[in-house]
Amino acid sequence: MSGRPLKLKFVSSATRTHQLPETPAEVAFVGRSNVGKSSLINALANQKQLARVSNTPGRTQLINIFEVVDGGGSGNTGGTLVDLPGYGYAKVPGHIRKDWGPMIEGYLLDREGLEMVFVLVDGAIGPTPLDVQMLDWLADNEVPHTIVATKMDKVKSSKRRTRKKELAEGCRLEVGDIVWVSSAKAVNIDQLRDLVHSHLAVG
Ligand code: GDP
Repeated sequence: MSGRPLKLKFVSSATRTHQLPETPAEVAFVGRSNVGKSSLINALANQKQLARVSNTPGRTQLINIFEVVDGGGSGNTGGTLVDLPGYGYAKVPGHIRKDWGPMIEGYLLDREGLEMVFVLVDGAIGPTPLDVQMLDWLADNEVPHTIVATKMDKVKSSKRRTRKKELAEGCRLEVGDIVWVSSAKAVNIDQLRDLVHSHLAVG
């Protein structure tokens, strides 16, 4: 088990990339509403109330930026982590859904210092057509990204092998390319935290 922390401090929220503070290195998390993004960010930071876990998906419609205030001697202090608004929640009003595309696309294409985008896919049900659309868009625009499959604990251990294969095929990747996690059961959280640290390392 890795003991290196990733202590985060909330900095600000924005609707446009130019409103965000400059960063030496940044990673972003994106995914369908309810995929488990807030739970995962809280688990990575080991801070319970950092990102809001909610049963009202789609409520958080802003770009939220956090700064690493303790990287456990990794030298990554000052790097940033961005929580992008979740996509694909039907109850979000049309005008907000319409704004989502330009806001997220602008961020993903223009953000200086963005090193890696972690795309969260629900391990028990994904990838959904919207997830595939997002992955295709990232590939087409050459935005570096890594797929993280969430809620691994919801897949029965007897079904995991098949599920992993299906999910990887749905994302057109190899099984080994996908990071499987469970925030609820703390599975592979250390591994993902190390990966985040490796992308925040500058120079
Ligand atoms: P977000 O909308 O993507 O930020 O998702 P949340 O983190 O708010 O989680 C959505 C729902 O999934 C909540 O009810 C969480 O308790 C649940 N959830 C999140 N992560 C896990 C997990 O690892 N395992 C299980 N079983 N449920 C999870």
